[in-house]
Amino acid sequence: MNNDKVYPVKPAFAAHALLNRADYDRLYAESVNNPEAFWGEQAEQFLHWFGKWETVLDWDFRKAYIRWFDGGQLNVSYNCLDRHLEHHGDQVALIWEGDDPTHSKKITYRELHAEVCRFANALKARNIQKGDRVGIYMPMVPETVVAMLACARIGAIHTVVFSGFSPEALKDRLLDVECCALVTADEGRRGGKRIPLRAHAEAILTACPGVHTVFNVRLTGSEVDWQHHRDVWYQEAIAAASPDCPAEPMDAEDPLFILHTSGSTGRTKGLMHTTAGYLLYAAMTYRYIFDHHPGDVFWCTADLGWVAGHSYVLYGPLCNAATTVLFEGVPTYPDASRFWQVVDKHQVTVFHTAPTAIRSLMNQGDAFVQQTSRSSLRLLGTVGEPIQPRAWEWYHQVVGEGRCPVVDTWCQTETGGILIAPLPGAMDLKPGSATLPFFGVVPEIIDEQGVVQEGPATGILTIAQPWPGMVRTVYGDHHRFVETYFAAYPGRYLSGDGGRRDEDGYYWITDRVGDDTITVSGHNLGTAEMESALILHEKVAEASVVGYPHSVKGQCICAFVTLMEGVEPDERLRKELNTLLRKEIGPIAHIDVIQWAANLPKTHSGKIARRVLRKIVTHDQENLGDTSHLSDPGVVQELVKARQPT
Ligand code: ATP
Ligand code: MG
Repeated sequence: MNNDKVYPVKPAFAAHALLNRADYDRLYAESVNNPEAFWGEQAEQFLHWFGKWETVLDWDFRKAYIRWFDGGQLNVSYNCLDRHLEHHGDQVALIWEGDDPTHSKKITYRELHAEVCRFANALKARNIQKGDRVGIYMPMVPETVVAMLACARIGAIHTVVFSGFSPEALKDRLLDVECCALVTADEGRRGGKRIPLRAHAEAILTACPGVHTVFNVRLTGSEVDWQHHRDVWYQEAIAAASPDCPAEPMDAEDPLFILHTSGSTGRTKGLMHTTAGYLLYAAMTYRYIFDHHPGDVFWCTADLGWVAGHSYVLYGPLCNAATTVLFEGVPTYPDASRFWQVVDKHQVTVFHTAPTAIRSLMNQGDAFVQQTSRSSLRLLGTVGEPIQPRAWEWYHQVVGEGRCPVVDTWCQTETGGILIAPLPGAMDLKPGSATLPFFGVVPEIIDEQGVVQEGPATGILTIAQPWPGMVRTVYGDHHRFVETYFAAYPGRYLSGDGGRRDEDGYYWITDRVGDDTITVSGHNLGTAEMESALILHEKVAEASVVGYPHSVKGQCICAFVTLMEGVEPDERLRKELNTLLRKEIGPIAHIDVIQWAANLPKTHSGKIARRVLRKIVTHDQENLGDTSHLSDPGVVQELVKARQPT
């Protein structure tokens, strides 16, 4: 598509932005031509060090060997808390907004520091030490942030498990990283419902004999089965602990956390991130991509159980002494205007969410947005999936009233932070494109043989050089790390995503390699482009396109389509969708099978699970495999039932 719409940099925004295009060009060139000098300088500027590093970078992608700031010493919790106390001690660090709109709380840097120190002492009192793994199975409440920072303070490695995961999924993750302790709560709240976290944990803890301590945060006051040798009330432990706990000096390459991927493409991977490189990268991407200014109220709606939560709810903002919003609820409770009500209530200036949330709110109509002011907003962001241009336009026009730039940020659990995204004061925007690489990131598009493509090209997205925030290994399985990311195309990091680079050098993420194209009669058709075309139709809320084998054409197109509230499918609509595809893509893009779907199967992090759709369309439901990564496995059964024989 060469008719991509371009939104030039907004002059009113650029007038106050941290970086303009000339700054970006100069800094980007420095960052890739002389990474050691560049990152050394940034590390001095962004972080507080207890001891200086000896080498900035040592790496060999062929061996999956990556080390940043070797010999340096620092502590992540010191960087996010202690060093801000002098000038920002009374500034709000966390704004917590509960699931129930009458619940909210503001916590200053000084208060957060004291509570983190207390909990760090409570961890130590249970003999939890540097290097130990601590599971955190918690809702979006301040105690979760405290637990993460307290681990970082004593050098324990946190592994956060999203609170929507089942007991089995929790067990697998705790065992995978050999946790010795767990932090959980009696119950979580979400969308007006209660989630029995503690009961879930109880159901699997006998299968995790390594877990010697369970800290329980009392949130709803529900009944808890108590095991005296193992269980501790969080509130009691905090009350008993001293607020004085010096931050442990950590080596730059000491592990900070292990985080499991969403499992969209298969068995989840427990990815290990280390201290200095991760923190520097989270802090720097936060500052420049979200154009951080003192006084900003930043709200990333991602759960702390995902990488966007780690880097853009917690570490990036707090390392910059920002004010960050922590939201316990869901976008549609009590109604579909909740996000915008919270924006008004807390005067949020920068708002970052996922395409799945944007599509679902778009589907509910504009009135929910328009009944709120949103005048505090100056910048909008998205992360998690490709965003269809129509959803981007809606976000830009209706939510941001054309005033706020939209930054589409490409990020993976592996990357630690955002790799490709616009700097909002520096780059023209194109709806659906993540635009240009961040400092130090060298994307390359290669073909299946590994040949690097120059100029405009479509293919496999790889990264040629290390960046500080990148994953260091798959915990306990370095072989899997090498095989997954470095073996197929030696010398480069394989993202697993497909990418397109256009004539302006802008990058477009075209979904997972393997899911991103369908070859119909020898023509490669992009699934993301077809999905974007389908949701241009006013009656379509969501669409996912997968290929399936066809005896003549090789592959043909199956579209799963969710309609807007209240719309009934009919033959006429099917024809209209085909007409639309023909117009937007070409005559070869003809839907052979259309399946109307009340819902699409999605991962817990809100991504459409194409792998599952492909199995449904080929009647391969016996091999659906583990569907525990899906937020509602029942959706799959509905689709299997509805699937017509072919
Ligand atoms: P698994 O690796 O277990 O299959 P996953 O890849 O879904 O799961 P995450 O690390 O949570 O796990 O998600 C990263 C993926 O999300 C990226 O590889 C990409 O496919 C998608 N993604 C994230 N941000 C964007 C974006 N802005 N545009 C397009 N895709 C995105
Ligand atoms: Mg992945």
